[in-house]
Amino acid sequence: MISASRPHHERTTAVHAGRADLVGLGVHALPIDLSSTYPLPDQRLGGAALQALAEGDPTAASSVYSRLHNPTVARFERALATLEGTEAAVAFASGMAAITAVLIAAAQTAAQRGVRGHVVALRPLYGGTDHLLACGMLGLDVTFTTADRVAEECGERTVLVLLETPSNPCLGLIDIAEVVRRSGEVPVAVDNTFATPILQNPTEFGAAYSVHSATKFLGGHGDVLAGVVACAETRAAALRQVRILTGSVLHPLAGYLAHRGLPTLPLRMSAAQETAGELARRLAEHPNVAAVHHPGLPGADPSGLLGRQMRGPGAILALETVGDPIAMIGKLGLITSSVSLGSTDTMIQHPASLTHRLVAETDRADCGITPNLVRLSVGLEHISDLWADLDAALRNS
Ligand SMILES: *Cc1c(COP(=O)(O)O)cnc(C)c1O
Repeated sequence: MISASRPHHERTTAVHAGRADLVGLGVHALPIDLSSTYPLPDQRLGGAALQALAEGDPTAASSVYSRLHNPTVARFERALATLEGTEAAVAFASGMAAITAVLIAAAQTAAQRGVRGHVVALRPLYGGTDHLLACGMLGLDVTFTTADRVAEECGERTVLVLLETPSNPCLGLIDIAEVVRRSGEVPVAVDNTFATPILQNPTEFGAAYSVHSATKFLGGHGDVLAGVVACAETRAAALRQVRILTGSVLHPLAGYLAHRGLPTLPLRMSAAQETAGELARRLAEHPNVAAVHHPGLPGADPSGLLGRQMRGPGAILALETVGDPIAMIGKLGLITSSVSLGSTDTMIQHPASLTHRLVAETDRADCGITPNLVRLSVGLEHISDLWADLDAALRNS
């Protein structure tokens, strides 16, 4: 059990967070509550609970209905909030549902003032996020820009500044505190998927939201789709309202799996990060590699954010092949050819064909997504096997 008075080491916190009620329940493993609805012995009290949840309260006397609240998902949220050091966390059906909820909540603050909301988005972004913003589906005006232009681009109608660090897929780092300063009163949302709460806590640097695709490192085993937003309680209430009204809830089985991933998160990050750093160094010297992108490489962190903002360079790297990148991927025998990241196995993909396919070609170029760029999400295999696979594929393609 977590004592509030004395913070534990993150490895201890990751094991115990969100499990404080288990002893009282007389169980050891996380219980999965599949109820879609809950008995209401007193309908007047049930009504009061419904009212509280609909207004965004984190809990009530009854869960009433699973779209309003689910105890299994709520435990995962408490665990994630503890790891991020925030008052609250709100889980969603996927990372995209989480990002969409943050955008809808921001749009609502503009709508309440009778204006159309405006978002300042720092490229590069996850391909899905980029496409969601660019296609105008949410009725928000969007300016895509870079960190140095944030102050100029924020105007009267700006309701959110959105960024990723490290960014996808080229692993550039952005100074969160600096962007927060340039954004003034406008809340900043950071997609923290690549770093995870183990390596970076954006709210420590003034970000209003830390957003995760829990599908990646948090779940960690490639078997669950989930999203979560860590933030202050006042902002969480609005996100819960979006979740209730749009129905973008995390299924309790998925909430269980996402939570089950957390105890091993620090160990998985640490092992994968060590391997990624060594692979990045070796690849940078490979004759068939034109460039390697990884925050830990010399020159990759000109603002000195490693150590200050991010506690390690993470487990993802990107490289530009000299030869045909797709032919190279075809020669791999061990590394999994697939989109997604943060699983136990090492995964490789070609952003221009897959994750960033829907981003316009000129915008891709601006983000450094060259035709020969491939992204590698390093898993838990032994480095010697990974290196042998990569080296052979690079030499034979
Ligand atoms: C995968 C991913 C998302 C989207 O998450 P889903 O769970 O697939 O909806 C958002 N941001 C980043 C950085 C991602 O890697």
